Amino acid sequence: MNDCLFCKIIKGEIPTKFVYKDEDVAAFKDIHPLAPIHILIISVKHIPSIVEVSESDIELLGKLIVVAKKIAQDMDIAQDGYKLLFRVGKHGGQEVKHIHLHLIGGAQLSEDIHPVD
Ligand code: 5GP
Ligand code: ZN
Repeated sequence: MNDCLFCKIIKGEIPTKFVYKDEDVAAFKDIHPLAPIHILIISVKHIPSIVEVSESDIELLGKLIVVAKKIAQDMDIAQDGYKLLFRVGKHGGQEVKHIHLHLIGGAQLSEDIHPVD
């Protein structure tokens, strides 16, 4: 768990400007944005991926979405819309093994969910 990049960000071991933070959830800009607005909303608790969530995480997962919604409103992209994305495991393209919800917007987005040839 000590090796986890996002746990290090939460603990302040990697300097990061949070756009949101409370006892359950933190959010910050993605280092390689895919669109004009690209925010990662993460759990403070280390959960490797959606594969590992349980019934006891339902409230936390709901909170990730509600925080994403608030950030979208604050950043004035709620009216035009955006994508919320969980990548899960190898086929989902998940690279960081700590749950995070991508909030992507600020421009018209492409489909981009096709299988690789
Ligand atoms: P995944 O592919 O696991 O769904 O998404 C991981 C995301 O974390 C990627 O979009 C990547 O750009 C972002 N990321 C990786 N390392 C860092 C970092 O050190 N700081 C920030 N802010 N984002 C990171
Ligand atoms: Zn972690």
